[in-house]
Amino acid sequence: MTRHVNGTLSCAGPADPCERVLAGLAGKSGRAARGKTVALVIPPSPQLPTPGREFLISGPFEGFTAVATLIKKLGYTLKVLDCRPAGGENTGRAVKELAAADIVGIATYCDSFIFLQALTKALKQARPERLVFLGGPLVSSLPELLLDSTAAHCAVLGEAELTLIEFLDAVLERGQNDLSGIKGMALKTAAGVKLTAPRPQIQDLDNLPFPDYTVWPNYEEIVKAGQIIISSSRGCPCACSFCYKTIPALRVKSLERFELEVAHLKETTNFGYTWLNDLTFNADAPRAMAVCGILRRHGVKYHCFARVTGVSAAFAEKLKRTGCQGVWFGIESYDQAVLNLSRKGTTIAQIDAALAAAAGAGLQARGLFIVGLPGETKNSLKGMLDFIRKGDFIPLVKYLVPFPGTALYADALRTGRIADTVGFLRELSARRVGDNDDKIVNMTGLGEGLLRDFFHRIWELTREKEAVS
Ligand code: SF4
Repeated sequence: MTRHVNGTLSCAGPADPCERVLAGLAGKSGRAARGKTVALVIPPSPQLPTPGREFLISGPFEGFTAVATLIKKLGYTLKVLDCRPAGGENTGRAVKELAAADIVGIATYCDSFIFLQALTKALKQARPERLVFLGGPLVSSLPELLLDSTAAHCAVLGEAELTLIEFLDAVLERGQNDLSGIKGMALKTAAGVKLTAPRPQIQDLDNLPFPDYTVWPNYEEIVKAGQIIISSSRGCPCACSFCYKTIPALRVKSLERFELEVAHLKETTNFGYTWLNDLTFNADAPRAMAVCGILRRHGVKYHCFARVTGVSAAFAEKLKRTGCQGVWFGIESYDQAVLNLSRKGTTIAQIDAALAAAAGAGLQARGLFIVGLPGETKNSLKGMLDFIRKGDFIPLVKYLVPFPGTALYADALRTGRIADTVGFLRELSARRVGDNDDKIVNMTGLGEGLLRDFFHRIWELTREKEAVS
């Protein structure tokens, strides 16, 4: 099935045969036990959580839950090792915990590189014959570099579900060594890293099984906390030059499916609050309002992201009425030339209108900003600071990072701003984010001291505004 979003076809081409298998797993029952254990590892993160939102980087998250749910439904025994609480120092303990697994998959995020090198090396030393694969955004952005720099054997690229169905079946059920015919993979070979044919994205998100939070080792704590992350869609069709996203096409769940999923999650996790993780929640405002209505019907309060485009008073009021506790707008810069250069596709007038609509409805708004986008000048940064000072919203600011796979990363390589890619990945592994002075790649013509000065002045405004909110 294909769906139309704002008049555009969200997904084209024939469905992947694995999508039929996925659809077959979407009901209540999965496959019979297969007697093999698949381990999935979540790397630690050095990042400081945003105060009050610790669960966003320490709690259960959605993409991982979806993949773990699928593996369980396929009939494999699942071992989830979440290394976030213990940190990355003790790879020896991780190796012991993974000893019984027949295959190990490790998630890769922008701050995982040092851990990936250490853990894959230790796993190889312990059991050289066992297959270790990578998945997630970092390896999807830099498959050659990640496989060349770690002891992993292969990687599942992009949206993982369809590829995992075929890959695990080939490796664990049929003992297949040649994986070159499986779409969506990167393989380490004697002749270097080879990419297989691209895997189409899932066309119908209703084919996904409902997320099963019992896959998490701390399931009881999750139920107690009652906070989870959900989404009614995947992907984003925009192409902002700085955005670190590896799932391009936007697809949406049907409203019927979304409501059934919310009801199922109420039953299984007792959640009363969610972070709505849709990247472009308000791309289709009437649909977004229907999603809010579903959350309201099930007694779920929420925060959401929104683009500033098309935020009407009616939309903001609907959010307020349905239990939205805050909306986070991706503003990035308050200079039109910078927005244009970043391919953000927004205008200053839209930013002003969205914030006015949110304030009018009594919604708490946050504005997300980046210090260090190409094209920023001392004057434009002053303009950003003035706008934040006067505005009826709380800012959240980050330094620009040219994340792997983004247009800005390609620019940084081309201009020599990133000369040592492995060194850059190691730096990313050490970033604390928050108001920390992380190392930066300066993509502007401004001095680093000036960027840091504006960054800290915006953080001061964040603290001042939070204190009175
Ligand atoms: S910043 Fe937002 S709108 Fe731009 S590409 Fe990323 S998710 Fe899409």
